[in-house]
Amino acid sequence: MGITETKQLLGEFGLTPNKALGQNFLCDESAVARILDAADADGRCALEIGPGLGALTLELAKRAKKLAAVEIDAALVRVLERRLSGVQNVRLLHSDFLKLDLDELKAGFFGGEAFCVVANLPYYVTTPICMALLSGGHSILSMTLMLQKEAAERFFAPPSSRVYGPLTVLAQHGYAVEKLLSLSPAAYYPAPEVDSVVIRLVKKESAAYLSALPPLLQAAFSMRRKTLFNNLKPLFLSREALLNALSACEIDPGARAEALPAEAFARLAGYMEESGER
Ligand code: SAM
Repeated sequence: MGITETKQLLGEFGLTPNKALGQNFLCDESAVARILDAADADGRCALEIGPGLGALTLELAKRAKKLAAVEIDAALVRVLERRLSGVQNVRLLHSDFLKLDLDELKAGFFGGEAFCVVANLPYYVTTPICMALLSGGHSILSMTLMLQKEAAERFFAPPSSRVYGPLTVLAQHGYAVEKLLSLSPAAYYPAPEVDSVVIRLVKKESAAYLSALPPLLQAAFSMRRKTLFNNLKPLFLSREALLNALSACEIDPGARAEALPAEAFARLAGYMEESGER
């Protein structure tokens, strides 16, 4: 859908884009085609977050084996219900993505299969959504995400850079990350005030899911100016246990979290899981 059709559809349903919900609808058809090709959803289970008016959804439904689309805005769900009437392989979920139980979705609608994620993310809630996707160990095969240019930088940040943090480490540990394309505000209606980027994350087969990693990162980055030793103390039973763990993983207790590469955090999380040392 181009801008004219997008405006027509909104008018037909008496809707105006809701800024508070990050509603900037994608109207660039060549970008839609590139995102769908990159999404790798053909014959697979797919989850779309924030389908909006369905810019990606209708075509995704044709390609995916099953598509779950979660939209917070009831008015848009009504538009989607009409646009998707007769389409059998789609489950429209009227919900806040952050309240969705992904394990339940996977075990139920997806029949236990791993799935891919596609989203033109609402910018106001990008970080919590990405953290939920990256932290959960839900067997996500790939994620094709459209986000604000500045938010995308965090996925590629090297250690010691300003935006290096838990999201960077989780993404770089579990996924190969690549930038697909840049989009100007003119690609959307209404035009946002920022540039956007589409990135693609593909699961690394070699990366084990480490349930200890998200809480470890939360503690390690809780006070950016403090040393790792000080930030990690609450996670361990004693100072000795913490020092032993850091030494076994060849990590300097006086280092700051921002200086540590993703592999070092993964080593420490693996050690904590294996030894039960907390
Ligand atoms: N996918 C559509 C497109 O590309 O045109 C819409 C993208 S728009 C940037 C973001 C969409 O996410 C909107 O439809 C908005 O209502 C929805 N949304 C916002 N917050 C959400 C949340 N917490 N859970 C699910 N959907 C949400």
